[in-house]
Amino acid sequence: MNNKPKVGFYSFSGCEGDLLTILHCEDELLDIFSAVDIRSFRMASSERHDDENLDIAFIEGSITTNKHVKKLKVIRERSKIVVALGTCACYGGPQSARLGYNDWEERFKKVYGSAKLTVAKPFESQPLDEFIKVDYRIPGCPIDKYQFFYALTRLAKGMPVELTKFPVCAECKWNENECLLLKGQLCLGPITAGGCNSRCPNHGLPCIGCWGPTDEANVASEINLLKEKDFSAEEIINKLRLFGGAGMVRRFGELLGIKPKEEKTLSKTQGVSKKKREKK
Ligand code: SF4
Ligand code: SF4
Repeated sequence: MNNKPKVGFYSFSGCEGDLLTILHCEDELLDIFSAVDIRSFRMASSERHDDENLDIAFIEGSITTNKHVKKLKVIRERSKIVVALGTCACYGGPQSARLGYNDWEERFKKVYGSAKLTVAKPFESQPLDEFIKVDYRIPGCPIDKYQFFYALTRLAKGMPVELTKFPVCAECKWNENECLLLKGQLCLGPITAGGCNSRCPNHGLPCIGCWGPTDEANVASEINLLKEKDFSAEEIINKLRLFGGAGMVRRFGELLGIKPKEEKTLSKTQGVSKKKREKK
């Protein structure tokens, strides 16, 4: 009898870069596939068992249609543990960068003109936890394969997962990089979750926050620091929202200059009340 944990991989709106990262682990793929019983992984196999219960569901991508919401809720009901995979699933991703900013339908028209939507009517891109309880988050755009291996191994053995709590700056210091912020560049390292081994500053590029905000991000202090360095409020806000998306807006909306009025409009659009979100 097969006693391996049953695992499913699912994808919503996004580039599927997280699932590709897993598939590109040629050296470790056989170990992954032999440690767990994969019941659904569209990119890897056409075989699907969508009526079975799962031990772990890994879900990437943000939620953008009512059809997504229904499918997501079914996956949640079938799964003991749900893991949000990648920054889109965790925080909404780049597609939610402008969340709450002016009128979404107007912005949509700017890009697509008067084209009629024939597939599904989308709404502002949202992270998974707007609609379901998420047990763990593995951020990254895309994820880091070692964080995924760590999480999969722990969860497959029934153990909890705890990812890095420190910011990118900590890794940057360990890598002995010269601080780009001190050199006048707009780096989001102090408020971005570590785990990428300070990939960008290692190459002289400022962090743009693709791992999403750290749990204890002191955004107010980062904004003040950047203002002192003569960056305009608009430059700072645009950078903060690029990957922080919905997660940033929800947690630091006021600091980002997003009025509560716009938050209410969003909740109405998504059919999820603020009260309900706070309960989760
Ligand atoms: S370069 Fe960026 S990530 Fe590195 S220490 Fe400076 S602020 Fe932090
Ligand atoms: S340094 Fe920042 S932008 Fe670069 S990979 Fe890490 S979290 Fe992403």
